[in-house]
Amino acid sequence: MFATVFDARWHALRWTWHDPDGYNIVSGPLADITLLGAAYVFVRRHNCHVKGCWRLGRHPVSGTTYIVCRKHHPDDSPTAEQVRAEHLAAGRQCL
Ligand SMILES: [Zn+2]
Repeated sequence: MFATVFDARWHALRWTWHDPDGYNIVSGPLADITLLGAAYVFVRRHNCHVKGCWRLGRHPVSGTTYIVCRKHHPDDSPTAEQVRAEHLAAGRQCL
C-alpha cells in the first residue's frame, strides 16, 4: 500500500521534472531537503535554551550550563566602561 503510494508519487515527480532517470530529483530537491535538514539540526543544536526561543544562543549563563540568546540572558549588556573596567581589573590580577 505505502509502496504503491510512493511509487505513484515518484512517477509524478519524474513527470513533473521531465526526468526519466530521476537523477535531477535526487541531486535537486532531495539535496535541498538534506540541506534544510542540516539547517534544522544546526538551529536545534545552537538555539537559545529557553523553550520556544529560536534565536541563536551564544551567551552562557554563569553558574549554569545554559546557553541563551542576548534577550534571555539575565545580565544586561555591559557598557563600554564596564568592559574596560573589567578588562583592566583582570589585567591587574595577572600582574
Ligand atoms: Zn532566547
